Amino acid sequence: MVFYHVHPASCSPLPFLLSSIRGESSPKLGDRPACPCTRFARVSLLKQRRSMCADIVSPAVRSSMMSRIRGKNSRPELALRRQLFAVGYRFRLHRRDLPGSPDIVLPKHRAVVFVHGCFWHRHQGCPKSTTPSSNATFWATKFASNMRRDAAAIDRLVALGWRVAVVWECALGAAGLDPPRFSQLCAWIGQTVDQAGADARRNRLEVP
Ligand SMILES: [Zn+2]
Repeated sequence: MVFYHVHPASCSPLPFLLSSIRGESSPKLGDRPACPCTRFARVSLLKQRRSMCADIVSPAVRSSMMSRIRGKNSRPELALRRQLFAVGYRFRLHRRDLPGSPDIVLPKHRAVVFVHGCFWHRHQGCPKSTTPSSNATFWATKFASNMRRDAAAIDRLVALGWRVAVVWECALGAAGLDPPRFSQLCAWIGQTVDQAGADARRNRLEVP
């Protein structure tokens, strides 16, 4: 890609060219007045480098993947946080010192809540848990590793005495969970930790 532009009056590359021809020490970048040409050169170089990186998936698949990346502070997660805050719960977010960096951590109740995207975390039986038709092996490996990591994080949290809830993204609307599901979650948060696995199932909740 070639950029045509006019040098501004402040930019005078001539002295630097002369000094390099004479064998004098090369001028430092900072000595030179800022000129758009250097910036343009960098931009075009970056573009070239990017275009040289071959993608392992087709543009359509990449687009579908990117659209599904929500990660932290996704809209459904924010909605649930607002809902919990409104009824008086106070929590920490994405605590990296805990296995799996749970999205919502309620230390007072010794409970954590993960808000899982149905596609990446493979919500069983959910229409959003689709599988792209191309690169079947890549996806199978990716999904298996995600599920393994999730299960391991939950096991480690429970072993550390935390109770773990998973709220699936498809259960969350713009206003968060519907009233019956939200009541279910709040009732679960209010429970106490079942020590020594007296009833291990009560330490876990899945919504829906
Ligand atoms: Zn789902």
